[in-house]
Amino acid sequence: MSANQDAPRTAPAERYDALVIGAGLSGLAAGIRIAMYGKRVAVLEKHYLWGGLNSFYKRGGRLFDTGLHALTNYVDRRVSGKPLTRVVRQLRIGYDDLDLAPQSHSTVVSDGAVLRFSNQVDEMIENAGALAPSKKDRFVALVEDLSARRLGEEEEPERSARAELMDRLGDELLVDLLLIPCCYYGSARENDVDWDQFVILFHSIFLEGLAMPRQGIRPLLDLFKSRLEETGGELRRHSEVVRVLAQDGRATGVELADGTQLLADTILSSAGRVETNRLIDPERPEDPVRSPRGRLSFVETISVLDTDPRAMTGGHPDCTSSGVVFFSNSRPFRYERPDAAVDLSSGVISMTQNFPGAHADKEPVFRVTCLANHGRWTGIDGETYDAMKREWSDGALAAATAFCPDVRPHEVFRDVFTPTTITRYTGHHEGTVYGSPRKVRDGRTELDGLFLIGTDQGYLGIVGAAMSGISMANLHVLAASN
Ligand SMILES: Cc1cc2nc3c(=O)[nH]c(=O)nc-3n(C[C@H](O)[C@H](O)[C@H](O)COP(=O)(O)OP(=O)(O)OC[C@H]3O[C@@H](n4cnc5c(N)ncnc54)[C@H](O)[C@@H]3O)c2cc1C
Repeated sequence: MSANQDAPRTAPAERYDALVIGAGLSGLAAGIRIAMYGKRVAVLEKHYLWGGLNSFYKRGGRLFDTGLHALTNYVDRRVSGKPLTRVVRQLRIGYDDLDLAPQSHSTVVSDGAVLRFSNQVDEMIENAGALAPSKKDRFVALVEDLSARRLGEEEEPERSARAELMDRLGDELLVDLLLIPCCYYGSARENDVDWDQFVILFHSIFLEGLAMPRQGIRPLLDLFKSRLEETGGELRRHSEVVRVLAQDGRATGVELADGTQLLADTILSSAGRVETNRLIDPERPEDPVRSPRGRLSFVETISVLDTDPRAMTGGHPDCTSSGVVFFSNSRPFRYERPDAAVDLSSGVISMTQNFPGAHADKEPVFRVTCLANHGRWTGIDGETYDAMKREWSDGALAAATAFCPDVRPHEVFRDVFTPTTITRYTGHHEGTVYGSPRKVRDGRTELDGLFLIGTDQGYLGIVGAAMSGISMANLHVLAASN
């Protein structure tokens, strides 16, 4: 045997123009955008399924969506220049292929006061004015100011949206009615939301609007996946990145859990800020000032019903017919990691069947999402975990009876997901739902050639995450190569 044959055979590392860590919406969108320009790109996903937090699973013979209450940023196809129409245009996806059912209305409930809003912002202005007549002019001025802001163009220093809103509106009820949805749909900061982030969320929820993918998340994810394949991008599943390779301060590639090394000029990571730092150097202590960990996580109860809640008795009619109900039973609204396993004083309820035309042939679903403490859900045995799921999901459904019918007698199936489920789907430490409270708008990390996309770049939700992937791909891969 020759010396050559004795030598260990290692295949030369494959080389790509770009690698994307994570096949959530941000990673898929980034991969498509890069592949559209003829570049060699692979999207590396540690799971078999793609979609990240917006994914799907089967239980009890039924298909469930994870993390889908509503699609924010909904606009009609004719409204150009908004995140949804930009995503569609930049990825060359047919708007109709998204198959969206816009909401009729949703509600925010603060300590008994109900604000009904729809995809026409005037309805919210009227209703907010009726709740606080002496503040209506201030409310109108706020909406006008926010409408005039062009997103992403003015990066401001971090400041408190709660304080800013209180200053402008002078009314705690109105402040809470705006904060409850904006915190629940995208704040990583406890008891508040950064003003910059608030402006983005206000646009996505109130100035644009809510819709539901008519057949759930699966067709939308299939659309993104087939678009990636069509453009020549690769989706490599079961490909967990365990290390970012670097030389002289520049990222050069990644190492996968099976030891495979892949090289690339640019790497985009949707793994999260703290998590990506760990991929650079797992030994280095975390820097809680520059890259603080998020503390907020959720527990979600998903009840499948034999009867539509609109046909049940009880509840406030505007809530029972809402696509989404955002609620807080305390004022001021408390949005922090609870000491207990779950905080039942606030939450979000989603009723898919209330989006006209969505899930028409399916059983009604009632989802309640509340804040949770990750630590309380770990280090316990399976029996305790199951008992906690039963106890807290019962509590969440009971809390919802303050403004919706009691759906418990009509349940045919219940599933519950906890902070540990979120960690499993996203890889985020401690099940943090919206990542680190400090976002990185330009995506830069300590390494040249390695950039953040998605949750920790600061754009959230299905459309926001896709927009983040596209804009970071444009800036750091496509513009850089021209
Ligand atoms: C309960 C809940 C409800 C929500 N409801 C809605 C909603 O109704 N509408 C809406 O628009 N948004 C909703 N969101 C928010 C939305 O899910 C997120 O904003 C969006 O999924 C973020 O996408 P992303 O691509 O940034 O990250 P993620 O979805 O977190 O995807 C990251 C991907 O990276 C993979 N990954 C991580 N680390 C590695 C690694 N080392 N190697 C390889 N792969 C890795 C993960 O497996 C994952 O697939 C909800 C979130 C939660 C928690």
